Amino acid sequence: MSVTQVAAYAASAPKAPLERTTVPRRPVGEHDVLIDIKYAGICHSDIHQARDGWGEGIYPMVPGHEIAGVVIEAGPGVTRFAVGDRVGVGCFVDSCRRCEQCLAGQEQYCAEGATGTYNALDRNGEPTYGGYSTHVVVDENYTVRIPDGLGLDVAAPLLCAGITLYSPLRHWQAGPGKKVAIVGLGGLGHMGVKIAHALGAEVTVLSQTLRKQEDGLKLGASHYYATGDPATFKELAGAFDLIVSTVSAPIGLDAYLRLLKVDGALVNVGAPEEPVELNLFSVISGRRTLAGSSIGGIAETQEMLDFCAEHGLGAEIELIAADAVNEAYERVLASDVRYRFVIDASTI
Ligand code: NAP
Ligand code: ZN
Ligand code: ZN
Repeated sequence: MSVTQVAAYAASAPKAPLERTTVPRRPVGEHDVLIDIKYAGICHSDIHQARDGWGEGIYPMVPGHEIAGVVIEAGPGVTRFAVGDRVGVGCFVDSCRRCEQCLAGQEQYCAEGATGTYNALDRNGEPTYGGYSTHVVVDENYTVRIPDGLGLDVAAPLLCAGITLYSPLRHWQAGPGKKVAIVGLGGLGHMGVKIAHALGAEVTVLSQTLRKQEDGLKLGASHYYATGDPATFKELAGAFDLIVSTVSAPIGLDAYLRLLKVDGALVNVGAPEEPVELNLFSVISGRRTLAGSSIGGIAETQEMLDFCAEHGLGAEIELIAADAVNEAYERVLASDVRYRFVIDASTI
């Protein structure tokens, strides 16, 4: 089968609602797989980009970089996948393949910039379109295998939310004896709680309110605090080895840095549209580190999927039909997501 035009949900302009349309997919090349998309997660990054919050958006835009589906055609040079395989695609679909980072399996930090799954131009200058769609054609080297133990629906969010938390948790060695805080219990945050707990760390959730406390404890947290309560910042001063902030809005990081032990690290993965202010004394005192982290490489994404399958960690999802996507966006913006919306691609 050679797909050229496929159904998709797209934003035609910044702040326009998403609507059903069709977009082109390239013919299946030598090293490509054609994926029948079954599910696509809704990441807050989709909303930032569809509404042009990060700027330089390319329209029409088909968001979606948490893709789970099944291979229905493989190019003649494909060696890693066969028709019928369960596969996933995350935030990028290509990179230069030559730079130091690409060679080290950290394609997300490609010196030439990895090619975004959507809202990007591919190596031939053609726009890329994401996972809110029925099919996608992707190079096998940028495709990962979804282990049998994971349902495709609960696996889809792992392709961004899962890897974005797994990578820093591993890099900063979350594990037994480590006190880890996750800021924001949304799509990324809830996977952070599950993964950090599975790695053996003692997990604390820092959420705006106590509304989701029961869920947070069920997901694997040992403690849960409201950041809306100033007493939280007094009680937890100097408490953590590692804090991962998933907050999508600009927040004052000083108060969070002061929750770190000496030599502790605050890793920011949230990508707010506005800059944040910082008082450098918050890092000077306590030799603290303020760091960032972006998704993960292909090999690490596969490692994360295997880890999640082994530990039975899928995302907590609310499955929606594609025509509910605009409503879902509003609920994500209102921090009313429990804990990831996933589009059933059969409704597109
Ligand atoms: P999400 O589901 O909306 O979760 C974000 C959470 O942040 C909310 O659930 C809320 O948690 C908290 N929050 C929101 N507004 C807040 C505010 N004004 N003050 C304090 N807390 C607030 O979003 P997501 O999909 O997890 O994505 C989170 C952020 O990470 C987005 O900016 C996204 O673009 C970015 N991101 C980055 C990467 C990367 O590679 N670095 C990858 C994916 C996404 P509570 O209700 O618990 O307070
Ligand atoms: Zn994402
Ligand atoms: Zn590169």
